[in-house]
Amino acid sequence: MRIDTKCIQSGYTPENGEARVLPIYQSTTFKYGSTEQMGRLFDLEENGYFYTRLANPTNDAVAAKITDLEGGVAGMLTSSGQAACFYSIFNICNAGDHFVCSSTVYGGTFNLFGVTLKKMGIDVTFVDPDADEEELSKAFKPNTKAMFGETIANPALVVLDIEKFARVAHNHGVPLIIDNTFATPINCRPFEWGADIVVHSTTKYMDGHATSVGGAIVDSGNFDWEAHKDKFQCLTTPDESYHGVVYTEKFGKAAYITKATATVMRDLGSIPSPHNAFLLNIGLETLSLRVARHCENAKKVAEYLNNNDKISWVNFAGLSNDKYYDLAQKYLPNGTCGVISFGVKGGRESAVKFMDSLKLAAIVTHVADARTSVLHPASHTHRQLNDEELKAAGVTPDLIRFSVGIEDAQDIIEDIQQALDQI
Ligand SMILES: *Cc1c(COP(=O)(O)O)cnc(C)c1O
Repeated sequence: MRIDTKCIQSGYTPENGEARVLPIYQSTTFKYGSTEQMGRLFDLEENGYFYTRLANPTNDAVAAKITDLEGGVAGMLTSSGQAACFYSIFNICNAGDHFVCSSTVYGGTFNLFGVTLKKMGIDVTFVDPDADEEELSKAFKPNTKAMFGETIANPALVVLDIEKFARVAHNHGVPLIIDNTFATPINCRPFEWGADIVVHSTTKYMDGHATSVGGAIVDSGNFDWEAHKDKFQCLTTPDESYHGVVYTEKFGKAAYITKATATVMRDLGSIPSPHNAFLLNIGLETLSLRVARHCENAKKVAEYLNNNDKISWVNFAGLSNDKYYDLAQKYLPNGTCGVISFGVKGGRESAVKFMDSLKLAAIVTHVADARTSVLHPASHTHRQLNDEELKAAGVTPDLIRFSVGIEDAQDIIEDIQQALDQI
């Protein structure tokens, strides 16, 4: 199936007489006829549902759809994008381990990795995503277990050279984990460029209507854990916390996701409610239509801003004068995303005046849904960061993050016009 068809059809195939639409299994638990049968489920000897924290049919169907869209072999949903990012690292890193991460990642991820994971004894080195391979290699240590980056960074809109990151990660025997939230699998499938694991905040374009916070992790099944047995003993040696199972032996290409479900989710419990997964699935059905429209509208808005003398700069990789245009042409030839960042002349003060004058575009802590919205990262999402960290994250004090919705582009442009007139 082609990707537009997968958006509609993947994940759930009803049998004769079953519900046409994915049902919401709003049940914490599932019933069995014998003690022994349920025991086999606990031992991972048999597939079956027993408790929603570990697996739920609605959640599984939606995870399977996202897995199919990304071209992976196994996937899981989480209750938020933050949980997905956390689990993707914590599944293979213990206290005393280290990983390498692009410095331009989302502010929440930057804080999770740089502060919270550090408190847990997992160390990170942030690297400039534009650095060359030699420079990136310097960040690796004997205890490095993963490399992490975003296809299109939120909100810096840096387009990652995924092949470069994959080469460096693989040269050091570790998997590349890519947060593909802004691109979505409609515009880029990182596995096709060498990434090993993909994470999402499904809260954004996938849900698309700003109804449900959620996340997902998908494994390509391509990383050879056994070839780096010593580094990844958590997957290649018996897990005493799960009856001595060796994940790579028992689950093959599904080893990483099975371990994430059987241990990290079991113990930390960041599951989405089946009802939220149902809403996410409705969003996914129209993902390809909406993403195309977001990109088309964003291009019009970016071109308008680019030609406006009250605007000091525009970042949008779909513009031919953008620093990341060439990388975008390679990795995202059908469009990047609906998010634009730009600076208004007059710095922070003008930025705030502009934002407060918008009528259609709403000030919300959100991006990437159907409604046009706007945010000032330096005073909102990134306010915990100091000036140096802001700079490393690609966020200047005048940066406005503008998320172009799927309304008529002319109405969005007219709203920007009247707000610029107020400055
Ligand atoms: C929003 C976002 C997150 C965090 O996701 P939540 O669903 O808000 O927890 C992680 N990564 C990126 C790129 C994001 O845009």
